[in-house]
Amino acid sequence: MDTPIVGGCLCGAVRFAAQTPTLFCCHCHCAWCRRAHGAAFVTWFGLKDTAFSLTSGEGALRWFRSSKASERGFCGTCGTTLFFRSTLAPGEMHVALACADGPIDRAPSLHVFYDARVPWLAMHDDLPHFDRESEGLRKYQAVARTPGRP
Ligand SMILES: [Zn+2]
Ligand SMILES: [Zn+2]
Repeated sequence: MDTPIVGGCLCGAVRFAAQTPTLFCCHCHCAWCRRAHGAAFVTWFGLKDTAFSLTSGEGALRWFRSSKASERGFCGTCGTTLFFRSTLAPGEMHVALACADGPIDRAPSLHVFYDARVPWLAMHDDLPHFDRESEGLRKYQAVARTPGRP
C-alpha cells in the first residue's frame, strides 16, 4: 500500500491519515470556503471516506454545519479548518491541502465556483475553471470520481 498522506491542524491536536489514490484536487472559490478559512480560496483534495482516518484529536475536532447539506470540520483548540463533508458528495471526505504535511499524489487540476472568486487576486494558470452551476463542472465531477482514474 502507498504511504498515506498525513497532516493536521496548527496546534497539532487534530491529525489525519489518508490513503491514496485521492479522487481529485481543486481550488474552490465559493463564499463558504473563503469565509470558513479566512482565505482567497481553498484547495481541497477528496477521498473516499473509507480512505480517511483521524489519527488523533477526536475530542478536539468540531463540526460546523455551513449549509443544509454540508459540514466543516475544524480544531476546537486552534481553529484550523481542515475538513468538509456533504450530502452533495456522499461517501467522501474533503481535506484542505494546506493542512497536509507534504505533497500529495496529484496537483490541483481545476477551479470551481470560479465566478465567486475575489477581485483582488489574479489567477495566472491554464487550469480549467467552472462557475458554481455549470454543465462542465458536473461532467468533471463524474469523471473525477470514476474509480481508478489517475
Ligand atoms: Zn488545533
Ligand atoms: Zn467551496
